[in-house]
Formats: sequence, structure tokens, C-alpha cells
Amino acid sequence: MKFGIIGLGYVGLATLCGLAKAGHEVIGVETHQGKLGLLKSGHPPFHEPGMADVLQEHADQITLTDEIANTEHVDYLILAVGTPSKPDGSCDLFYIETALSELKTKHKVVIRSSVPPGTTDLLKIMYPSHTFAIVPEFLQEGRALADVMKPHRVVIGCEDLEVAEELAGIYGRLGVPLICTTPINAELIKYASNAFLATKISFMNDLSRLADEAGADIMTIADGMGLDPRIGRSFLNAGIGYGGSCFPKDMDALLHVAKENDVNLRVIKAAVKVNDTQAEYVLSKLHLEPKTRVAILGLAFKPGTDDMRDAPSILLAHHMVARNVEVIGYDPIATWEYPQAASVEEALKGADYAILVTEWEELVNLAPEAFSGMRQRRLLDARNAWKFARDPGDVSYEGIGRMQRP
Ligand code: NAD
Repeated sequence: MKFGIIGLGYVGLATLCGLAKAGHEVIGVETHQGKLGLLKSGHPPFHEPGMADVLQEHADQITLTDEIANTEHVDYLILAVGTPSKPDGSCDLFYIETALSELKTKHKVVIRSSVPPGTTDLLKIMYPSHTFAIVPEFLQEGRALADVMKPHRVVIGCEDLEVAEELAGIYGRLGVPLICTTPINAELIKYASNAFLATKISFMNDLSRLADEAGADIMTIADGMGLDPRIGRSFLNAGIGYGGSCFPKDMDALLHVAKENDVNLRVIKAAVKVNDTQAEYVLSKLHLEPKTRVAILGLAFKPGTDDMRDAPSILLAHHMVARNVEVIGYDPIATWEYPQAASVEEALKGADYAILVTEWEELVNLAPEAFSGMRQRRLLDARNAWKFARDPGDVSYEGIGRMQRP
């Protein structure tokens, strides 16, 4: 089959690669000239394993363009453009509406962007010549292609029976659980899933403050809780809070929709509140004075990606720079606007504090000796991930919710 994909960011490019690998012809449309140029030379504009190989190996099936008109004869048009927050927290559908407004021919449109409940039904009214389906994307950055090839589930939200059946046939080949439902259910499954994961994180962060005060260890608590299959161990790690391009904006959008519907989503509000104060909580563990030098180890919002959107490292640096603290960052691949070292050693040299902010393997596995170049060896593990936590040697170590180290 022939697919058009609008927007070649994390979701769009992963989708393009997945479809090309499955043998389909794909036309990728990207309006950002810098990204398009890189893609045309075979380089993904961000760090994601496996994508460069697919672009090369399946080059004959892939057309890359900035012209949406080139998608005129595709079987399906997939929308994977961004859906950022507006200042009031609501979801901005500008990129979706712009793309749809530029279409000159009738299409079967599949929305893969995350949108608030009711959006697909609204788009059907606004653009009546197209048929719409929403198939929300659940991929995780750093493993985007693998997730697209083998997702935990595929959710198809579509009122048109023929299109729903055809999509079920296409996605059915992945051999994963399939849910066919209404667009509003599909939209809410995506938002609710992100909100639930973010709430798990905030739940543990909230509890970590009690663990700190009461002298308990949040990691042991998480391990004990996580063995119950009704709870599960994933997303139970206390730390600096969630960031990234999805959780914060999707939580805000969900709260905004709830408000419009006169519904008070108290649990989600509380989860956001905990997260909004977590960076400050982490900072409160430091004794910062002007000219204190802090090495921030790990900048990306999570390991495995160079994505800096809403990364907690930026928030930390922002707070510290405002207090005249000297900040230097290190990340294996991500970059930021603050001073950055080319190696861990360089970042740690002369530092008073080292804060682990992104749990990259190379950072998690640092030996206590790696900190020998610091002025004062004070370590703050903002991800509770440092392996040497059990045997920190002569460094001062503090985690989040770990007053009693195991
Ligand atoms: P992104 O910002 O990385 O990519 C969007 C791309 O669309 C950009 O490159 C932009 O230049 C391009 N674009 C915008 N308008 C265009 C147009 N008219 N024509 C062609 N290209 C256009 O975004 P992303 O991270 O891939 O996320 C896309 C959507 O998927 C969002 O709704 C997001 O919430 C959702 N999502 C993201 C992830 C993730 O981990 N990143 C996971 C699941 C769902």
C-alpha cells in the first residue's frame, strides 16, 4: 500500500520506518528544512536506534518532501505533527488544522498525534470530505522503532466500519492486541495511559518525602510494592519528576478538557502539583551558595534520547543559575544552552556537587573513584540509580527518599 505521513518527528519517522520495513511505499512530508535536509542525506534529525539503517535499506520505497500535495494518491494519510500546549494548558491543534487545510483531495486520514477527547469528531465536522480514524501512538523515545514494530497494543478509533476493518487488517499483521472503538475512547485511552504513568511517578515522589523524613528507603518500598502484579514495578522510581514532550502537556490538556466539562480530576491535579514541586524538593537537598559549582550528569529528559523538551535538567539549571550557582552539564548525546563538558571527568573537575539527572548506563555505572576530581565530593542521586549507592566510599551520597541507604 501507499502511505503519506505528515510530520517526520519521533512519531512520524518511526511510523515511516515501520511501514517501509513492512514493505509499503511511503511519502514523508516534513516542512522543517533542516530536518528534511538531514533525512534526505539518510540521517535522522534525532537519536533513535535503527532508523538510519531503515532509511538506507528501504530508500527505494521512501519519498521525502516538503510538499503535502505529493501525497495526493496515497491510500492513507497519517498525521504525526506536534500537538503542543497553548498558554492556558489546552492542546493546540494548529499543526493538525494547517495540514488538513492544505489538502486538495479527499483522504482517509489517520491521526497518530495525541489529541484531546472529541478532536477527531470535531475534525470530521470541520473537514467533511475526509474520513477520519485515530490510532494513538504509545511509543517511547529511545526505542521508537522497536515500539512501532511491536507495540503493546493498537487502538483504532473510527466510526467508518470499512476503514476500521481495513486498518484492523493492516495493524493486525503486527500480531498484538487490537482494540477497535470510537474515536473519543481511543483519544482518552492515550491521555489516560500517559496520565496514569505520570501519576505513578508522582505517587512515589510524594511518598519519597515521607521516606526522607521517616527514615525509610523508597527503593525498597518500590521493590516490595512492585512484586504485586496488580501494581507492577515500572514507573515506581522516585526522582526528579517527569518531563519530556508528552506527559506534562498531555496532563495539562486533560485537565483543561475536564474543566471544560465541569469535571474536577483531583488525582491528576495532585499528580501535576507534586511534579511541579519536585525539582524544588531536589534542590532543597543542596546547600547552594553563589559560586558553588554543580555538575549535572545527564541532560536529556530520559536515557536513550537526545530530546531536551521539558527536561528536568533545564529546570534545575534555571533555578541554580538564578542563585549565581555555576552549572556545568554533561550528556552522552543531548545538548543544552548552559555550559557543557565533553566528558564526565571534565564536568566533575572542581565541582562541589554532582547530580545524576538522567540515568544513562555510562553515568549509572560510574565508580566512586570517578568523583576524585571534585572540590567537594557531594553527590545527589536525583534518579536513585547510582549503582555504588550501597558502597559510596568517602563521598557524601544522598538520594530521593533514601535517608536509610540499604
Ligand atoms: P515532533 O515535534 O518531534 O515532530 C512533529 C514534526 O511535524 C516536526 O518535525 C514538524 O516540523 C512537523 N510538521 C509540523 N507541521 C507540519 C506540516 N504541516 N507538514 C509537514 N510537517 C509538519 O513531535 P513528536 O514527538 O513526533 O510528536 C508528534 C505527536 O505524537 C504529538 O501529538 C505527541 O504528543 C505524540 N506522541 C509523541 C510521542 C513521543 O515520544 N515523542 C509518543 C507518543 C505520541
